[in-house]
Amino acid sequence: MSRFFSSKYKSLEPYTPGEQPQNMKYIKLNTNESPFPPSERAVSAMYKAARTLNLYPDPQCRELTCAVAANLGVEPDEVLMTNGSDEILNFAFMAFGERGAAFPDITYGFYTVFSVINSVEYEEIPLKSDFTVNTLDYAGLNKAIFIANPNAPTGIALPTEDIEKILQSNPDGVVVVDEAYVDFGNESCVKLTGKYDNLLVTRTFSKSRSMAGARLGFGVGCKELIADLNKIKYSTNPYNINKMTMAAGIGTMADEEYTLKNCAEIIKNREYTANELKKLGFLLTPSAANFVFAKHSSVGGEKIYSVLKNNGVLVRHFDKKEISEYNRITIGTREQMDKMLDILRKELSL
Ligand SMILES: *Cc1c(COP(=O)(O)O)cnc(C)c1O
Repeated sequence: MSRFFSSKYKSLEPYTPGEQPQNMKYIKLNTNESPFPPSERAVSAMYKAARTLNLYPDPQCRELTCAVAANLGVEPDEVLMTNGSDEILNFAFMAFGERGAAFPDITYGFYTVFSVINSVEYEEIPLKSDFTVNTLDYAGLNKAIFIANPNAPTGIALPTEDIEKILQSNPDGVVVVDEAYVDFGNESCVKLTGKYDNLLVTRTFSKSRSMAGARLGFGVGCKELIADLNKIKYSTNPYNINKMTMAAGIGTMADEEYTLKNCAEIIKNREYTANELKKLGFLLTPSAANFVFAKHSSVGGEKIYSVLKNNGVLVRHFDKKEISEYNRITIGTREQMDKMLDILRKELSL
């Protein structure tokens, strides 16, 4: 640390991204990326956009915003496109965190980081022992509430009725539903944005749309919430979506069939992998995401992580006590899953 660093950031503990090894070729099942390449329409649109990189991108991101809004059945002024969904989450902490924030104690690790960097006081609410949310714990908080649905890293989905209970019992706080994984089989809350002025839904192109490297996400909410978030955007980075990403996003939205096909394949592979892991003595949480969260009945979580890593497969292990026996395994192609399962069978003599 230099002696010039602002004291308010001294206690900041940055988010630790999953390993992105550049030296060795691993089967990467550790950051919930898609195993499928982006849509060809995204790639060709991006090439074309690259030829006009001398010009700034459209700060309103009009064409892409309209495509996303049409896909969701909402108005363009109810959508804000951002640089990954991490950016809209950060904007939400900035815009709506004045009275504090609350979120489950086991969830996406970025929520605590966004709280600290924006000086938002936060409360981590323990999940039940089966890792599910008790909606009563959130009643009457009237803070900004962040619920990843399905949750990370457990994959467990909270029913829409339960989200509604939280919305209704917190009329004076914004409830942010982080739907990064919703396309892998969960019901979306977007349809509730017309009914609740305190609901913001966030989504990403990183997982189901194979665009993690492009950085594209968005938020959906009533137009007043979106106007607030736009104020933050235009005060930090009006050109938050670069031209190539914007073009790739438009191409992807025009190829919905491809996205749906890939999601169906991931869901199929998830059910297959879950079944095979159970046969090997693993216990799994019920996942509605593109990963499974698994612990073995006799072999420790760290051991499983290192056996896989030593054999060229990266999964995500968290040190946090309550979940240290688990590993989060991204669902890839059937071939990748079979390789991972073979290693476990062989190396652990299961
Ligand atoms: C991956 C993920 C995000 C971030 O996605 P980006 O759009 O790549 O920034 C947000 N929330 C959760 C729960 C995630 O797992």
